[in-house]
Amino acid sequence: MLDRREKYCSDQIRRLKSLDFFPTDDYASGELVKVLWRSSESDSHAERIIDKVLEQRLGDNGRSCPTPAELREIAESVNPSERRPVARSNCPRCFGMGWEPVETVAAEGAFAGQKYQAVRPCQCKKHGLGIVKGA
Ligand SMILES: [Zn+2]
Repeated sequence: MLDRREKYCSDQIRRLKSLDFFPTDDYASGELVKVLWRSSESDSHAERIIDKVLEQRLGDNGRSCPTPAELREIAESVNPSERRPVARSNCPRCFGMGWEPVETVAAEGAFAGQKYQAVRPCQCKKHGLGIVKGA
């Protein structure tokens, strides 16, 4: 039985079928499915990995199917979350780190009432793309 995610990945791999050197052997194409399945964090991530494969124009003629190793490499270069908030690199508060230092007073525990340094998500991230999109 195929796992739901595995099924999704195998559908995505099928998008590569029109490329040259797409494995005609089920075991060989299954290898690509396995790589995509293992290297992707969500369905949308898997889909964007395949988008990128198709955009990359691999091989001499620009239309070669990636090998499992090439697919893994491309997968690793694709950001798992589409809309990860982006901190402004020129932000005076966080200097592009996305976290601003704050002084907080501990409410409870051994250090209750004492000030300590903490960080909070910087305001500038709100002006970026905003939402972290889950799976
Ligand atoms: Zn900032």
